[in-house]
Amino acid sequence: MRRFALRSFLALLLLQLGGCYPERPVYTDRFLAFGTLVDLTIVGATQQQAQAATKAVEEDFLRMHEAWHAWNPGPLGQTNEQLAVGRQFPAPPMILPLVEVGQSLSARSRHLFNPAVGHLIDAWGFHNDDPEGHRPPPEALIQELIRNNPRMSDIKVEGINLQSSNPSVKLDFGAFGKGYGIDLAVTHLKELGIENAILNAGGDLRAFGSRNGIPWNIAIRRPDGAGVIATIKVSGDESVFTSGDYERFFSWNGKRYHHIIDPRTGYPAEGTRSVTVIHPDSTTADAAATALFIAGPDMWHEIARDMGIEFVMLIDSKGIIHMTPEMQERLELLDTDRKTILSPPLTGTRGS
Ligand code: AMP
Ligand code: MG
Repeated sequence: MRRFALRSFLALLLLQLGGCYPERPVYTDRFLAFGTLVDLTIVGATQQQAQAATKAVEEDFLRMHEAWHAWNPGPLGQTNEQLAVGRQFPAPPMILPLVEVGQSLSARSRHLFNPAVGHLIDAWGFHNDDPEGHRPPPEALIQELIRNNPRMSDIKVEGINLQSSNPSVKLDFGAFGKGYGIDLAVTHLKELGIENAILNAGGDLRAFGSRNGIPWNIAIRRPDGAGVIATIKVSGDESVFTSGDYERFFSWNGKRYHHIIDPRTGYPAEGTRSVTVIHPDSTTADAAATALFIAGPDMWHEIARDMGIEFVMLIDSKGIIHMTPEMQERLELLDTDRKTILSPPLTGTRGS
């Protein structure tokens, strides 16, 4: 316990020292997108470079926010109208790549991550700026939406054209749009000559390069959303994503209903409080965090293997930590009194 405390202290000290190095300038920017605050930190660039990059990233996020919004009118709404009538139509350019990557990730998650379940998300009241005040949908509606069995594989992609064979498909990119957006923005940053940056959207992030020559130190929130449970060092180019039941929810008759819906039951997934994954790209990390949350303490390991994820920490509804040995090696756990269950390793599963 004391060793952990000492190591955590050293981690924080290193973070502080990294921040104090004078010779590499640090530029920060903060804006609102995807309903969350986005923080961009650029290290070691010229002021001109950093300003251009910051402007580009803000514009990218604005465009993506509009294109993928799940309930405001826009390209995603138009796409959903066309999918519902079963007609073949040319996909808006901002939509097509997400359909393709969503199909592949959904299949790899055994459809636990299923961006075609927009009607279920809507029925639960999460297509709304503020879900508070909502109540659970009627049981009959949930059962009907499940029976309709919307899947990403119901969408046929031919060149730039889409067509759905199932009128109940309604796309919702909430579980991986932020990740896809961060990947696009990072590509853009690199094209603009940025070599060290961290792009953090409400605790989900991708970091590349380093902060003054030492790794970025990332804080992981406790599953109740308050305080820090662990820190992780990131360097090179990696994404850290967390899905938690504290992010969006409403309360009804003393029970909390959160926004991560199990497509098998039609109800908010049970058994998990939060899942954190590390992966090179943010799109996969985002989709996997959602899928593993739904998979829960019994099934997360299988799904992580199928999705090629090595670094996973899941906190279950009893507060027990489940993680891969690979993740344990990377973590500085601050809550050292929690029971921890280590899984078999997952090294080498990436890209399989
Ligand atoms: P995340 O915070 O990344 O786990 O994503 C949660 C969001 O994804 C929700 O607010 C919904 O918009 C959407 N969502 C909920 N359940 C699912 C699911 N099973 N598959 C795909 N998207 C989902
Ligand atoms: Mg996600």
